[in-house]
Amino acid sequence: MPINDDLLAAPLEELAARARSVRDRAYGRRVTYSPKVFIPLTMLCRDRCGYCTFAKAPARLESPYLAPEEVLAIARAGRAAGCHEALFTLGERPEERYPMARDWLAAHGHASTVDYLAAMCRLVTEETGLLPHANAGALLPEELAVLRPVAASQGMMLESLAEGLAAHRGAPDKEPARRLATLEAAGEQAIPFTTGILVGIGDDRAHRLAALRAIAASHARHGHVQEVIVQNFLPKPGTAMAKVDPCPPEELRWAIAAARLVLPPEIHVQAPPNLSDDLAPLLEAGIDDWGGVSPVTADHVNPERAWPALEVLRAATEAAGHTLAPRLTVYPEFALDPQRWLDPDLRFGVLDASDAEGLARDGAWCSGGEAPPPALLETAPVPSPLATLGGAAQAGSAVAEVLTGVALGQELGIDEIVTLFGARGPEVRLVAETADDLRQRAVGDTVTFVRNRNINYTNVCTFKCRFCAFSKGPLSLNLRGAPYLLELDEITRRVAEAEAEGATEVCLQGGIHPDFDGDYYLHVLGAVRAASETIHIHGFTALEVTEGARRSGVPLADYLARLKEAGLKTLPGTAAEILDDEVRAVICPDKIDTDEWLEAHRVAHAVGLRSNVTIMFGSVEQPVSWARHLVRTRALQRETGGFTEFVPLPFVHMATPLYLQHRARRGPTFREALLMHAVGRIAYAGDIENIQVSWVKMGAEGARQVLRAGANDLGGTLMDENISRAAGAQHGQRMGVEELEAVVAPLGRPLAQRSTLYVLAGAPSHA
Ligand code: SF4
Repeated sequence: MPINDDLLAAPLEELAARARSVRDRAYGRRVTYSPKVFIPLTMLCRDRCGYCTFAKAPARLESPYLAPEEVLAIARAGRAAGCHEALFTLGERPEERYPMARDWLAAHGHASTVDYLAAMCRLVTEETGLLPHANAGALLPEELAVLRPVAASQGMMLESLAEGLAAHRGAPDKEPARRLATLEAAGEQAIPFTTGILVGIGDDRAHRLAALRAIAASHARHGHVQEVIVQNFLPKPGTAMAKVDPCPPEELRWAIAAARLVLPPEIHVQAPPNLSDDLAPLLEAGIDDWGGVSPVTADHVNPERAWPALEVLRAATEAAGHTLAPRLTVYPEFALDPQRWLDPDLRFGVLDASDAEGLARDGAWCSGGEAPPPALLETAPVPSPLATLGGAAQAGSAVAEVLTGVALGQELGIDEIVTLFGARGPEVRLVAETADDLRQRAVGDTVTFVRNRNINYTNVCTFKCRFCAFSKGPLSLNLRGAPYLLELDEITRRVAEAEAEGATEVCLQGGIHPDFDGDYYLHVLGAVRAASETIHIHGFTALEVTEGARRSGVPLADYLARLKEAGLKTLPGTAAEILDDEVRAVICPDKIDTDEWLEAHRVAHAVGLRSNVTIMFGSVEQPVSWARHLVRTRALQRETGGFTEFVPLPFVHMATPLYLQHRARRGPTFREALLMHAVGRIAYAGDIENIQVSWVKMGAEGARQVLRAGANDLGGTLMDENISRAAGAQHGQRMGVEELEAVVAPLGRPLAQRSTLYVLAGAPSHA
């Protein structure tokens, strides 16, 4: 192929520079790895490759196959260590060579090694939730098909297309035509596939180019190759090739660069980090993935070369100006298109382990849960972002470029916001520091809270929001408490009780009861005012007022004016969920759409009511929808100036229909939740001054970190918080001032009570 002729002649440094440029355009500075365990299901193999120490003679093995309990023990250890992938490595078709393998399979009820592998993949998924990757060699189409429903991805090294290599003498499965046929059959079956080349086993650069071109061609037909491993040969004692020279580092770098240039950008290029002493040259040659790294098991194929500890890998990656991100065995391009690439039985497992970008969740924390958050920010005081932006570690990173623009006063658009949501590692700190600095300039150091009480007057609702664990349809199964509708007297009583305890605000919201007419909300306001003439009434979502106006048969502006006249002061931003109709069609299809939510708040502001912006994130959507939400609400704020604050509400998944039906992720990761507050602070700079963190959803330690990432408000003390608890949140129903003090004290910042409109207690109020 003449197009690649120049690769053979070009100087290595020039090739590497071109490869880096392609890599950086496709993936930025992000380098991925897969936290996994390796399960050597059988070390028997019918092939004899000249470099291999993995395959063993039967006499050297106690049993031809790992027993199910041994498989599970490895998988469970991996699960406990935070792995997502179970990589099954095994020899090829041992039953065709060794009677003991045949006998073992027969005794255990399996027709073949592939059948046993399929059973173990299924067992591991069922028992541990790890996602299997099957690396079973050159398989027939029907064998690939057996594995597709139980292995999220499969793989087979092409190794080399050179015929008659001494390394492959005695290895019938290494015949190039058989390997190519497997690659092609995997594509025909839409199997996310890993392949690669082995550099230094006797072929030359032209052979490597031919192999890479063949992979690219198969991928062009099917789109199924997710990564190509470029692996360097290392001689091992006791093998036929023990005395052959190892692959020179320059040859490995050339092959990596060539792979990056021959393959289309969407195919990831990987080099194993445990087979090279120096990692930076691999990054410089164009890789964007380190492959599987196990905190638990050895590299059974290269047992003499231990995996680098994750922190070592992270340090080396960051020192080279990259960030490190965990991924699943299926890359995001495949995880985010499950209908095409994943068997139905595997889709939820992938979704459940995913973050919003389709990469792997990076910790056990989930919104409203009990697992502690990772410490993403240092506890020491941080320097200003202008001082840190020049940090060498992030030079050239897209995140740093966006933050430089922020420092110069540039406005963030959708693309820039999405870039900031992609921040990882040290970049997260940079985003947080920028947000913290903007917070300090906008509102100072005081952390505020409001004493309030939630009154959710009914949980009966005619709408069917799929993320909502709170509502009960009139006919719904009563799984967690009965449908209820508070009497107006009870509302009055609760308001009086709240005021007696010092609350300055009641927050009113509830389901859309089929019996409500527009006057119901006026009656509720009357019930509040019967108890207190002064308590601030924060109530009624955009959905409730839109429905109230509709059921009253009056224009929304008239209806809102009547509510205001009856005492309503501010609207909560809830019912916004995500202001992106593509997402709303999935999570709340019968609710008001984006334009209706924006219009309700526009009209509310016009009649003199203020409101806030919320975002409920982390269920099904990707960061671009978060960005649209921020940009749309920012535009309205510039039009009306009516929003008081931005309140991120991480999706609490546990008891929601969307999660229980296996259609949602388990909420945002902690990194995503922290970034939502930080990026909100940056995107709304100059437009919305207050960023609230929900301690109900983030927990005390999570809230403390978020207060260092742009937030300045802890929200309400919240007697009777029902909605998050209905969804499964563990954090309490009420937080006293002492507990809020405990959140804030380590930050060295003052805590102050505020009104709903952010007038500090003791300051003159015009609310
Ligand atoms: S979120 Fe509100 S509108 Fe939707 S089902 Fe729940 S209570 Fe009803």
